[in-house]
Amino acid sequence: KVRVRFAPSPTGGLHLGGVRTVLYNYLFAKKHGGDFVLRIEDTDQTRYVPGAEDYILNCLEWCGLVPDESPKAGGPYAPYRQSERKPLYKQYALQLVEQGNAYYAFDTPEDLEKMRNDYKTEANPSPTYNHELRGKMRNSLTLPADEVKALIDAGTPYVIRIKMPENETVSFTDLIRGEVNFHTSQVDDKVLLKADGMPTYHLAVVVDDYLMKISHAFRGEEWLSSAPVHVLTWKYLGWYNEMPQWAHLPLILGPDGAKLSKRHGNKYGFPIFAMNWTDAKGDFTEGFRERGFLPEAFTNLLALMGWNPGNGQEILSLEEMISLFDLSRVHSAGAQFDFEKAKWFNHEWIKKSDATVLVKSVKPVLEEKGILINDEAYLAKVIDMVKERCTLLGDFYEQAAFFFTAPATIDTASILPKWNADKVAFFEAAIELFNNAANFNHIDLEAAFKALAAEKAIKIGELMMPLRIMLVGGKFGPGVFEIAEVIGKEETISRIQQGIK
Ligand code: GLU
Repeated sequence: KVRVRFAPSPTGGLHLGGVRTVLYNYLFAKKHGGDFVLRIEDTDQTRYVPGAEDYILNCLEWCGLVPDESPKAGGPYAPYRQSERKPLYKQYALQLVEQGNAYYAFDTPEDLEKMRNDYKTEANPSPTYNHELRGKMRNSLTLPADEVKALIDAGTPYVIRIKMPENETVSFTDLIRGEVNFHTSQVDDKVLLKADGMPTYHLAVVVDDYLMKISHAFRGEEWLSSAPVHVLTWKYLGWYNEMPQWAHLPLILGPDGAKLSKRHGNKYGFPIFAMNWTDAKGDFTEGFRERGFLPEAFTNLLALMGWNPGNGQEILSLEEMISLFDLSRVHSAGAQFDFEKAKWFNHEWIKKSDATVLVKSVKPVLEEKGILINDEAYLAKVIDMVKERCTLLGDFYEQAAFFFTAPATIDTASILPKWNADKVAFFEAAIELFNNAANFNHIDLEAAFKALAAEKAIKIGELMMPLRIMLVGGKFGPGVFEIAEVIGKEETISRIQQGIK
């Protein structure tokens, strides 16, 4: 059975790349009738940020990518938070020590510092920790067994490190990159178990992927260099046949081609997180949700950053993406983020979404600006009239506010140089006409208005813009008689009266 996982560390807000990782996991799982697991990797308590886990869950819910198993939903392999699984891991680290694939390391922070200084060269400014190359470290490979025992008995702090084999190549097949090889001399003897008995990510990720029966592990490319440690750990624990298939997803790049980061967001003024996030230091990062993106557009644009369905289709619903998703169409090169293109997706989704569905997203935008909505059917009608003109949800305020409140006092004369007494007289007659209209619909209104203009011998072109400004407060918006029909007779007349005052 296909089982995938998203395994974030709760250290902050969720970045575009993180959501895309979720999305590819989700699409793959759903395509194959599998399960999507959310596992919180919180073993590094120094980096733990309160609120980050809830934030992640809320993001997934907003995006419509709800996990089948998670700390919130529970599931057959609970608990789904690694800190709650602590007692599980140590036995595996000890097993590796016993087998000779891992060792106790007693280095103090000063020892490590000294090692780094001793082996640092210009070509290699941060030397790896490797029992073979740096044989002088104090560990159970270099010290006599009785001394090791004495140190442990005396309560000397230690960590357990994996022993990278000498001069070997570790290979595995990545579903996106094909065969990947690492030479063991380039890989650290990573810590598996910390001095406080907590596993590190490297041990916990292997143990949990095994215990949770994960079949496919898709994660960001930044984890590629850790893969040899994980592959060897799978091997040494005797689980190699059950190892998940790996796929390391390409990076998302900023407009300058560098890895997308908060810096880009600040420089170019676009959001890079799913939802607004303020970290413990008070640093704020804007989210796509608050910028006015629809979740459907957000997932659609992310899916196409690194994948394409092969049929040229760009606008895809989650269901369509599930049915078309195929890892062989995920590129290995980084995908460049383009905010203008992102907005295009949102505009397309706003246009294509049903007004009754958009009501839920537009209502809070208007209410936040003080426009209370008590008639959702009326709002839906308005949305239908203006959605073509909206790229971000916030645009609905500018485009639709006048359907709810009359424009602030309009100085018609100053806006329109050709304003004169004849025109005032015309609009007085128009009020009369509108008042007596049997059917207040845009077709009849337009015909009557034009007939009146002909009768008074005023060019229609000199009357339409004044009417629009009186009803809308600006030179924009959908058809002016359609607007009159929607706001209704009383409101139309009152705005014209206000306009000619
Ligand atoms: N805990 C890792 C992270 O924060 C997960 C990497 C993986 O999926 O193996 O991204």
